[in-house]
Amino acid sequence: MRFDQRHLLGIEPLRPDEITTLLDLSQRYVALNRQQQKRSTVLAGLTQINMFFENSTRTQASFELAGKRLGADVMNMAMEASSIKKGETLIDTAMTLNAMHPDLLVVRHPHSGAVDLLAQKVNCAVLNAGDGRHEHPTQALLDALTIRRAKGRIHRLNIAICGDIAHSRVARSNLLLLHKMENRIRLIGPPTLMPAGIDAFGAEVYEDMKEGLRDVDVVMMLRLQKERMDGGFIPSEREYYHRYGLDAEKLSHAKPDAIVMHPGPMNRGVEIDGTLADDINRSVIQDQVEMGVAVRMAAMDLLARNLRAQPKDVLA
Ligand code: ASP
Repeated sequence: MRFDQRHLLGIEPLRPDEITTLLDLSQRYVALNRQQQKRSTVLAGLTQINMFFENSTRTQASFELAGKRLGADVMNMAMEASSIKKGETLIDTAMTLNAMHPDLLVVRHPHSGAVDLLAQKVNCAVLNAGDGRHEHPTQALLDALTIRRAKGRIHRLNIAICGDIAHSRVARSNLLLLHKMENRIRLIGPPTLMPAGIDAFGAEVYEDMKEGLRDVDVVMMLRLQKERMDGGFIPSEREYYHRYGLDAEKLSHAKPDAIVMHPGPMNRGVEIDGTLADDINRSVIQDQVEMGVAVRMAAMDLLARNLRAQPKDVLA
């Protein structure tokens, strides 16, 4: 088992064997989380601070539970009420927290690159919980674990990522991970929601859902990221649903056992039909949430092992 990272800032720096290590360890935490006694002590004595500069339901709850189940002291910073609102810069806030000796800092920020910048200024392990349109590594890892459990492998699958690719950090991290693990990736969406330079990712691009979904094993839907749009990307939500919203008819073009995924939060009736999202025979959306806790436990466990291997000089 090798995992040589000091931080988890994105999928980009990870080697395929490190991804496998992380997924294998997550698998053990899935089993722990299903027991009545869920407590472990692998993070005992360590302090975890969650700093979310952008709203989050699943990710923040999941990181908090993950830390608590592993015995860490977990603190959630209320960023709305923090000094950031009084004009303190991100780096000042980070330096202030750093002086309190946290071991794990979990950060979500609306600006791409903000979490990397912060990681350069602190001496604890930093986990990126989503930065702008850049990366959301734990989401891609929990998606990979969900796929591996449903399909028995995470390589040589046909996987479609559909919808608002341009504004989605989930799409970017998933593209990077699925490409590293040698899957065939199709991107489906209107040209206005495809990022520039998409060819570099080695994916096939489709404008038509039925064509793009033909014979895929996995259908990954994305939320329309309205907060990152400045108008004019889609004609109307109704028209978007008609062309790109996943329903039973469009899904019938995929393999009969294709699974349906969505990172949440879902816009039902915009990018996905609500009944299909709730259909436990096709949708693995609840599994994704379950895997999220396990993956975050594994990520913090591995980073904590590396912290212990290179202790800070406490007298310095
Ligand atoms: N929850 C995911 C994220 O934070 C996906 C989304 O918001 O659409 O990026």
